[in-house]
Amino acid sequence: TGLCCYLLHEKATTQADDETEQESDSALQPDIVEGVDGLIGNTPLMKIRSLSEATGCLVLGKAEFLNPGGSSKDRVALNMIRTAETQHLIKPHIGSTIFEGTVGSTGISIAMIARAKGYKAWIVMPDDQAIEKYQLLEKLGATVEKVRPVSIIDKKQFVNLARERAATFHDGEATGYFADQFENEANFNAHYTNTGPEIYRQTAGRIDALVLGAGTGGTLSGITCFLKERIKHLKVFLADPQGSGLYNKVKYNVMYAPTEQEGTRRRHQVDTVVEGIGINRLTKNFDRGRHLVDDAYQVTDEEAIKMSRYLVREDGLFVGSSSSVNCVAAYRAAKKLGPGHVIVTLLNDSGQRHLTKFWSDEYLKSQNIYYELKPEESVQDFV
Ligand code: PMP
Repeated sequence: TGLCCYLLHEKATTQADDETEQESDSALQPDIVEGVDGLIGNTPLMKIRSLSEATGCLVLGKAEFLNPGGSSKDRVALNMIRTAETQHLIKPHIGSTIFEGTVGSTGISIAMIARAKGYKAWIVMPDDQAIEKYQLLEKLGATVEKVRPVSIIDKKQFVNLARERAATFHDGEATGYFADQFENEANFNAHYTNTGPEIYRQTAGRIDALVLGAGTGGTLSGITCFLKERIKHLKVFLADPQGSGLYNKVKYNVMYAPTEQEGTRRRHQVDTVVEGIGINRLTKNFDRGRHLVDDAYQVTDEEAIKMSRYLVREDGLFVGSSSSVNCVAAYRAAKKLGPGHVIVTLLNDSGQRHLTKFWSDEYLKSQNIYYELKPEESVQDFV
């Protein structure tokens, strides 16, 4: 009888399960995204356990490396292209060509979305960036033009050259369009209307500090403006890599480029090991939120390199150089505010995009900037 009972019970539960399954089947809705654009944004906000435990704060990193083009720049590229379409500045299939001056991430995002939408991409980049970024751009079908990094006042500087190329480009019916991420408000808007609201929702509005580096400044300004309109006590900290002039702009309102003694590498931002953030001029997109930035932290190459190795060792988190700078500054902000606070930063891209530079011990040794994270070293020992 025991077995009989068991079988009956089995049957009954199976039937019941089938019925519920049928009911829920009809309630199921398709959940499909439309093309690569559909994969952009809505990235998870993750608790970085090691930094949270070390500070007694909740240190959160928005996993922007999960965007299909591998960085937060997908949001910016999509919004710049959509805005240009709305303004009838570009048209697909007649070969409208989108030009951009970029250190890589924005170019990769533009190249990806351009492919999906039927545009061509022409990317002008400094020639000292990690090689995997050029390779990716070529695989995505972009025209890649590499130039020596020079001062912004030089006509051959990568942003100036992209602008010039766009203005003079003609190919049949097709013209060039300069995306202009440094000045274009569509960059700021991508973060003001997407990344900022996502962070607000994901934290239920409970954030004490936002900590971010800046290249164009679009991410920092866009998220800051959205959050500060809603969270009055929010503190915003700039995370600035060594050699960048933004730290002094925020702290002392002077744009200070490093002196000759501090090395031409820093002075001209050439061959910097941290890619994507740090700049020696005031862009419109940084200026849009600058008045809302409360303080700044300067992060050394040594701290950034050690942080990246620490995050892999402690959290299995493999991030790129700008994310490591963000995490160093997020740790400092958490220490400054004290236990119990919520700190948000961005994990902009993955370490995979930096294997031959920031993540290459051989490269770092060749540049005399190799720093080993010793097994006994913890975050409080190197930050
Ligand atoms: N991280 C990476 C990897 C980047 O490429 C960039 C953009 N250059 C940033 C951070 C900084 O973003 P933003 O340009 O919005 O300041």
